[in-house]
Amino acid sequence: EREDLPEVATPEALLPLLPRRPLTAHKGSVGRVGVLGGFRGEGLRYAGAPVLAALGAYRMGAGLVHLAVPEGTPLEPLEAVFHPVPGPTLPAMRVEALAVGMGGGPWGREWALKALEAQLPTVLDADALHPEVLEAYRRAGVRAVLTPHAGEAGRLLGKSPEEIAQDPLASARALAEATGQAVVLKGNPTVVAEGGRLSVNPTGNPALATGGTGDVLAGAIAALLAAGLAPFEAARLGVYLHGLAGDLLAEEKGVGLLAREVAEALPRAREALA
Ligand code: AMP
Ligand code: MG
Repeated sequence: EREDLPEVATPEALLPLLPRRPLTAHKGSVGRVGVLGGFRGEGLRYAGAPVLAALGAYRMGAGLVHLAVPEGTPLEPLEAVFHPVPGPTLPAMRVEALAVGMGGGPWGREWALKALEAQLPTVLDADALHPEVLEAYRRAGVRAVLTPHAGEAGRLLGKSPEEIAQDPLASARALAEATGQAVVLKGNPTVVAEGGRLSVNPTGNPALATGGTGDVLAGAIAALLAAGLAPFEAARLGVYLHGLAGDLLAEEKGVGLLAREVAEALPRAREALA
């Protein structure tokens, strides 16, 4: 069987994918994103994770972000439309794409199964990356972008994080094949796989190794899905711009950046690409 050679993503190849904003744009026409995540109960809580995904979506150009989070989640006033929920459910929201699972903990699986009812292109991240979820999406024919780091990919493939990181190309390809979805295997380098296609991302640096940067990425990719990009294209462009945002910040500040700053730098990364 012929295995396609991996491409290295280039600005020339990605620039045409960048959604253009017409003069007549309004917030309902440029892509609306639903973010579902967080959990409430015993154990660790990552209440900021879905908020960071919402910021990632807005900074990638989403027109409107709906944010479904557990009741009682402390939230700063944000441009998002809030849906405080008593448990993992899919509130009524008019959106074109979803990002699900960030900070979901024990709710992650259920968030993703509920989200499936929307039949929308969906970024499945973090605690949504569960075998039962991936099987349900495959059976339903709902397109998803999976965004595991090496630990999450290892759990899905029955391997250690070290084994995954040793051969990220083969790991991303295997997960894409097993699920039928586009896969973003995060790390250095980040690899994007779908079907026989493989793309290695050239941007990003170790300053991104800090809490919340993955959540920003999930929201950013969802914004590109909502703007109408196909999963593989949304994944490649999102990963490239997220890494470039990290590179611009590392140049200025070095190590010690915050995930929210990566979101804030996304418009500059877009400008640098264009
Ligand atoms: P997560 O593990 O879900 O928080 O995601 C971390 C994000 O930071 C991903 O986009 C990774 O690709 C990126 N990242 C983490 N460590 C590095 C590194 N050493 N070099 C480049 N990117 C990294
Ligand atoms: Mg993560």
